[in-house]
Amino acid sequence: MISILCPCFNEEKSLPLFWERITGVLDGNGEDYEFVFVNDGSTDGTLSVMLRLAGLRVSVRVISLSRNFGKEAALSAAIDYAAGDAVIPIDADLQDPPELIPDMIAKWKEGYDVVLARRTDRKSDSFLKRWTAGCFYRLHNRISHPPLPENVGDFRLMSRRVIDVVKLLPERQRFMKGLFAWVGFDTAVIGYTRAERSAGKSSFNFFRLWKLAVEGITSFSALPLVIWSYLGGLISLAAFLYAGYIALRTLIYGVSVPGYASTLCLILFLGGLQLLGIGVIGEYLSRTYMEAKGRPLYVVADVFGPGGKREESTENPLLR
Ligand code: UDP
Ligand code: MG
Repeated sequence: MISILCPCFNEEKSLPLFWERITGVLDGNGEDYEFVFVNDGSTDGTLSVMLRLAGLRVSVRVISLSRNFGKEAALSAAIDYAAGDAVIPIDADLQDPPELIPDMIAKWKEGYDVVLARRTDRKSDSFLKRWTAGCFYRLHNRISHPPLPENVGDFRLMSRRVIDVVKLLPERQRFMKGLFAWVGFDTAVIGYTRAERSAGKSSFNFFRLWKLAVEGITSFSALPLVIWSYLGGLISLAAFLYAGYIALRTLIYGVSVPGYASTLCLILFLGGLQLLGIGVIGEYLSRTYMEAKGRPLYVVADVFGPGGKREESTENPLLR
């Protein structure tokens, strides 16, 4: 069975369109589907639309959250309630085309655990959004490990074992795209063109996207914490060299402005020293931070016994 996960915030207008199009694609596809709708504290009639859809067939589950928790939390809730052998998170606004789902399933049946849908063309996004997204991916992938696949959203297929590992990650600050990438496994990519929103309006304004970007970087990189020791070391070194140069110059040419050179050297040197101290605290803090996340050390994909025979999976999805 395949679980279709759909987090919704104020999507009463998009949901009926979404339902019509996705059931049109999936019905008669020969697969078994369930729908998990999460109402993320909508203030419009989203919940009643969901309940109407749930009345249409048995394979629809509706999870209604007590208030708006944000897309990352709503998606986590959907994952917790999904029962399928593979799950596909999809937006309710039809920006993720349901027509891609059969192709994703075909790739999954070929043996891939993750099938990513990459936006080959972001024409529907404004120039500013495309540019800031590009900057974010470049920065993130330079300083974080593992890298995020570019132009890939939450729309993707993940097998049960991938989802089981995602569920085991105990961290509270959940940047889902990053967590999905962290889990790994064999990954296939298919391309698509991102459409305009079918109805309603995007709930991600610039500030919310900025917060998401900060979340992504701070969840996966300690560089912003530890960079200060290197910067501080450099500044201290420069101050030291400069002090030597000034001392030499004073010895040769005499004093020009009394006290100026020594004060400047002292300020630079102490400033550098303080940054160094902050960086050292950052080193310890980053370790505490990573420990606090409690991520597993590794995830095993397969275990092969004597003669290269694949061993049956164990209870613990991490040690498969
Ligand atoms: N969404 C949600 N909770 C929120 C904000 C958004 O569940 O607090 C859902 C929304 O209903 C949609 C998906 O997340 O199904 C993507 O949101 P949106 O289309 O507003 O984002 P964009 O496509 O503009 O990045
Ligand atoms: Mg959208």
